[in-house]
Amino acid sequence: MTCGLCGSGISAEEKYKQLKDGTTATYRYYGCSRAKDRYCKNQYLQEKDLTDQFIKLIDSVDLNEAGVKIKFEEELRRYNKFNLGVLGVQKKKTKHEDIDLKTYVKYILRDGTSQEKRELMGCFKSKIKITKKVVTISECR
Ligand SMILES: [Zn+2]
Repeated sequence: MTCGLCGSGISAEEKYKQLKDGTTATYRYYGCSRAKDRYCKNQYLQEKDLTDQFIKLIDSVDLNEAGVKIKFEEELRRYNKFNLGVLGVQKKKTKHEDIDLKTYVKYILRDGTSQEKRELMGCFKSKIKITKKVVTISECR
């Protein structure tokens, strides 16, 4: 991910907020690392906003070309191995043709851990930019 204003990398920052019931909520923000322009005016974006915008953009991206497929096939191999080795399921293997890649990506973005989300976003060959709280994806060919 890069800053749409100055081209620096995007860095994540965590903020903690004490809630009334004693628990702590974690908010993750994404913003310009200001490596190229230390006075960059780009604003911070909350992880939830980033995820929401990203889910909407997914429909316009060719995921087979975006490099997500490799990551997905890795997961699928793990799942099939787990089924066989731990659960003893001998059924026919689930093939990736049976599952929509977009469903997988949206699942990770909604329900995955922060690490899973980061790994997934790292798979995208497309350039992800954040400009004034707006996320854009440009395919590079
Ligand atoms: Zn910037």
